[in-house]
Amino acid sequence: MKAALKTAEGTFEIAEVERPIIPDPAFVLARVRVAGICGTDLRHWQKHEPELACHIMGHELAGEVVAVGDGVSNVQPGDRVVIETVMGDGVCEYCRVQKYNICEHLYDVRTRYVSRAYAEYVVGPAEKFYKLPDHVSFEEASLIDTFSVCLHAQHLSGLGINDKVAVIGAGPIGLGQLALAKASGADVIICDVVDSALELAKELGADAVVNSASEDVVERVKAFTGGRGADIVFECVGGDAMPHTLPQATKMVRRAGKLVIVGGFDAGETAIPLEWQRLQMSEIQLVLSASFAMHDIYREQGMVLDLIAKGRIDVKKMITHRFGLDDINRAFETAQDKQKTGAVFVAIHI
Ligand SMILES: [Zn+2]
Repeated sequence: MKAALKTAEGTFEIAEVERPIIPDPAFVLARVRVAGICGTDLRHWQKHEPELACHIMGHELAGEVVAVGDGVSNVQPGDRVVIETVMGDGVCEYCRVQKYNICEHLYDVRTRYVSRAYAEYVVGPAEKFYKLPDHVSFEEASLIDTFSVCLHAQHLSGLGINDKVAVIGAGPIGLGQLALAKASGADVIICDVVDSALELAKELGADAVVNSASEDVVERVKAFTGGRGADIVFECVGGDAMPHTLPQATKMVRRAGKLVIVGGFDAGETAIPLEWQRLQMSEIQLVLSASFAMHDIYREQGMVLDLIAKGRIDVKKMITHRFGLDDINRAFETAQDKQKTGAVFVAIHI
């Protein structure tokens, strides 16, 4: 099969590799149709990481079932599906209570099976394959992973109707956070440095948008919340921006409010000075959110699929660019260079 393999320099090369085979009666083989580019994928773009050379990456994907093992009953060949790629070892204390998003072996297990979207075929356990209704496209379905990350963060935040919410970052995660908060009856102010992303935020229902390059975002949030600060702030930029956005976020949140960190950190120690005494004296809660898994008895990915199918959230507007697998390097450049290209969600058709 055709696959995009990571190079040591952090780009991709297209190659022919062995098609995966169903390793277990409870597994499914699917043909990938659309894959997305996540912020975490972008953090590895053009980064010298020889240990990732020849790996197949990507973890936002939708496709068609090709074959199923003897023990599979939830999907059958021909079914259109979205594939969940958050997958733990299934045996640890956290997996046992379905908190597989924090499984110690998450990365190893998921990259061995389902987190291999930039290729023609993928295998995984049947429980990770969700049947799509006919009116939900592969492109829309490839955004379900992103929105599931947002839904998990929203669940951890305890967000409720009429809450005042500030979102830092209007990339796919920030816009997803906005869309879910609006669907839940909150008032939302969102900031970014890319004007086209803020325009899209308005279309998705933002009550206020702020270009943080030209305006004082803390003052704007204060004004938006009657001087109090937001009940909940979602940090959705991550990476190199954190030393700037985290201290800023602590100034936007009200006393006893919640600061939810959804944006990702790089591995190793990250030193970010915060006003710890002020945070403590005002009982600000720092909440760190990682991927998604279950909410009560429901799978968060299944909940997002349901919300899209019912038209409660509109993900189509976020798909700004499309490329074929052969053009994956151009797709990554476009996603990376969003200030120029206006990219939000870049779909790779496989
Ligand atoms: Zn586990």
